[in-house]
Amino acid sequence: MRKVSIFGATGSIGQNTIDLIARDPTAYDVIALTGGANIAQLAADARRLGADLAVTAHEDRLHDLKDALQGSGVEVAAGESAIAEAAARPADWVMSAIVGAAGLAPGIEALKQGTTLALANKETLVCAGALVLDTARTHDASILPVDSEHSAVFQALAGEDMDAVERVIITASGGAFRDWPLQELAKATVEQASNHPNWNMGQRITIDSASMFNKALEVIETREFFGIDPDQIEVLVHPESIVHAMVGFRDGAVMAHMGAPDMRHAIGYALHWPERQALPVQRLDLAKLGQLRFSDPDLARYPALKLARDVMARGGLSGAVFNAAKERALDHFIARRIEFLNMAEVVDAVLERFDATGGLIDAPMTLDNVWKTDHLARQWVDDAVIKRAG
Ligand code: NAD
Ligand code: MG
Repeated sequence: MRKVSIFGATGSIGQNTIDLIARDPTAYDVIALTGGANIAQLAADARRLGADLAVTAHEDRLHDLKDALQGSGVEVAAGESAIAEAAARPADWVMSAIVGAAGLAPGIEALKQGTTLALANKETLVCAGALVLDTARTHDASILPVDSEHSAVFQALAGEDMDAVERVIITASGGAFRDWPLQELAKATVEQASNHPNWNMGQRITIDSASMFNKALEVIETREFFGIDPDQIEVLVHPESIVHAMVGFRDGAVMAHMGAPDMRHAIGYALHWPERQALPVQRLDLAKLGQLRFSDPDLARYPALKLARDVMARGGLSGAVFNAAKERALDHFIARRIEFLNMAEVVDAVLERFDATGGLIDAPMTLDNVWKTDHLARQWVDDAVIKRAG
């Protein structure tokens, strides 16, 4: 039996992972499940899968979790350090599906035990790519991409020589506002931004899809994971979300990866890699679909894409600044303190302030420096938002 743990088990990726694992209960020994405030879901899954340990991120919810798992034999714990401890428990395969920078520390902890880390949490590579890859190398651990685009690139690269790669093209659906006139974007509401045309995902990544901050993170993730130059990475708007990514080779050939927009594709590929196993996903009917459309993204509409280019050019800890500033700006948008287009303005201002200040952004990439940068970036977003309101 394979020992598996799922971080962010109660979220969209976590639940899709559990769906696959629960179909084959004799194949998996579930070590740890972690979640947040949805105690009922966490407890139900821990019972059903017979997990050794269930952890909530919220210390004040430990009692509720204990109550919900009374008599089940599942060990319970709470808080950030309990999540890190869970990540250190030996497992053959670990799903990293916490949302945000909070996924970084448990991911590193899991790599340190030499596991295979299925990485949905793209923030891990954006905040600390070099550190994370180095940790994996040192501890003989593997990282498998779960983001659909990166899984697609990974699959298109199977058996290929990286030297033969000319470019990598990741697609973007264009999110909730793809067809909106530019002038109306400023007034877009949280509810409107939370409604994705093709994918059913957590609220934060759904809003990030509408602003293309998600794609911006993914461009940086592509650079970090595959180690290719920023100018070899392209973004293409593709409203149908059927082609997830393409790899162009030096002979002009382009390998495209297609599939229904269902994250169980990428999760299942990482779960069964290097084999391919049957997956309960819809099969493509291209004749029924009729057409696949592609266009270049309008950079005036999606300033986040330009910011990603700035971050890659700047290097150092600017990825950690970018991610933290984006996360905090998103908090303010969700709390209705700023408008949709203000998110990119605020992130841009914070990146510039770091650049002008120097120091921290060029500090060595240690976990400690990443956290310092992350905290300061969030504080500076708050400053910028308060200044705006005043
Ligand atoms: P989600 O919001 O649905 O779930 C997030 C999970 O993380 C929940 O279990 C939640 O309890 C937990 N969590 C939240 N904050 C936490 C914290 N501070 N500490 C510990 N746990 C915390 O998110 P999601 O859509 O499943 O996305 C998860 C990750 O996967 C993100 O990094 C996202 O970018 C990435 N991803 C998601 C999709 C998708 O289809 N949903 C696709 C590609 C990549
Ligand atoms: Mg993606």
